[in-house]
Amino acid sequence: MPTTPPDATLTSTDALLTSGTADAYARTVRHVVDDVATRLAAVSQPWSGASRSELTALVDAVDLDTPGVGAREALREAGELYATHAVWFHDPAYAAHLNCPVAIPAVGAEAMLAAINTSVDTYDQSTVATLMERRLIAWTTERIGFAAGDGVFTSGGTQSNLHALLAARERSLTGPDGRRLTGVARHGLQDRLRILTGSGSHFSVAKSAMILGLSDDAVVTVGTDEDGRLDPAALDDAVAATERDGGVVMAVVATAGTTDRGCVDPLEAIAARCDAADLWLHVDAAYGGGLLVSATRRHLLDGIERARSVTVDFHKTFFQPVSASAVLVRDPADLARTAWHADYLNPAEDTAEVNQVDRSLQTTRRFDALKLWTTLRAIGPDGIGAMLDAVCDLAAAVHADLAADPELHLVARTDLSTVLFRYQPEGVTDSEADALVPAVRRVLFDSGRASVAKTVVGGRPCLKLTLLNPDVTVVDVRRVLTLVRDAAHGILAGRELADLTAPPCRDVHPHLARTATGDVR
Ligand SMILES: *Cc1c(COP(=O)(O)O)cnc(C)c1O
Repeated sequence: MPTTPPDATLTSTDALLTSGTADAYARTVRHVVDDVATRLAAVSQPWSGASRSELTALVDAVDLDTPGVGAREALREAGELYATHAVWFHDPAYAAHLNCPVAIPAVGAEAMLAAINTSVDTYDQSTVATLMERRLIAWTTERIGFAAGDGVFTSGGTQSNLHALLAARERSLTGPDGRRLTGVARHGLQDRLRILTGSGSHFSVAKSAMILGLSDDAVVTVGTDEDGRLDPAALDDAVAATERDGGVVMAVVATAGTTDRGCVDPLEAIAARCDAADLWLHVDAAYGGGLLVSATRRHLLDGIERARSVTVDFHKTFFQPVSASAVLVRDPADLARTAWHADYLNPAEDTAEVNQVDRSLQTTRRFDALKLWTTLRAIGPDGIGAMLDAVCDLAAAVHADLAADPELHLVARTDLSTVLFRYQPEGVTDSEADALVPAVRRVLFDSGRASVAKTVVGGRPCLKLTLLNPDVTVVDVRRVLTLVRDAAHGILAGRELADLTAPPCRDVHPHLARTATGDVR
């Protein structure tokens, strides 16, 4: 019989996971798993739709300073608070951002790595985990087409981009003797460094420039085609103009799957120019990285093997739980330039050791690689690729559906899985349609029944679906679009458009939410 005390009398050390508490751990976690499974099966809309003030009151009502209530009760309470009001990305009416339903083997791996709590920094803290992560890095670089690359798992595309651009900066700030420039020479040059990128590139590129201490005008926006893909001829012009103005091109950032439109920059043509001028090409494939395993669309990434660094977000198109991303480089020396050594951890003379901390911006770091590992073993790369292909096919079907729609108008094409559109039937002016975008999004979000995003394309606001759930069908998406139309009709019927900018709609005009969603909580 288990000798562990009932949860309510847990002492603080009983709360720790050790050999003595293994039974309690198993019971506690099984309980959580059962609860989440029950909730998952019962989910019928993306989220509860509770108001911000209701949620704030619930959160504030918890006293964090009382004596402990025991693990079981703490988790029950957390489930009631968090799971009840969380946004469920697996719900067919969740179509807002780049969030995916997650692979079950990866969730199992998450439980394993959380309990074992490996930190993939030095080899002596991680042993086989370091080797498994390195094997996956090698697998990814092979898929990219690097002959002998390197890389490391990161917390996300933002960190991957920052790390790649740090490596590019260090390369730019290396003297002819191969040493880091210092002092005045370094700062004078750093001020002149420029990053050339398309207007659709992720904001983490500009944020990285700020973090890396580049000048305020370091990010140069290069012209694009009508779908927002970086235009190679415009890149030529931008390189020439940068040099003419005394700038030094630190990196060209191409995007393989722009966050808004899901368009892939023409990588071959961009790589050819970067090769010719010896420019660092970074490919941000945070969104499009899953194309590496696609049976039908891998060609969109042709040329990625000529990049010097690549970002891949496994927590987007590889269907991994947050967080799982990697930065990959073609030449291991490029990553080595960003290494730092500490006597107590990874002394520079320990060259025989494989310490992933040498490659990472983080020190203590999760073994996120285990999730991708188990997913690959469970369903194979083709299984992952098929899921990405399914959401791209779905997006294509929705685009075809909307092509003839009298009320909803497509405003952009996609290479991947986004749908950008506006509600604008005849008689609704441009500025009225503009105002409807945030209003419709808010009515839907507040109802909890559907979640769509909004953005701006070509200066005009539009609604956006990001389709990343391979289980979703065209019929499911039509249901969401019906909610969009209903919300728009309700708003048009119930309010002066001039008032639409005053949020939140539901609190001001409860009948709007009712019209949009059929019921009010
Ligand atoms: C999502 C995204 C990022 C940022 O990745 P995070 O994992 O959210 O940090 C960077 N670039 C692109 C193109 C993205 O779509």
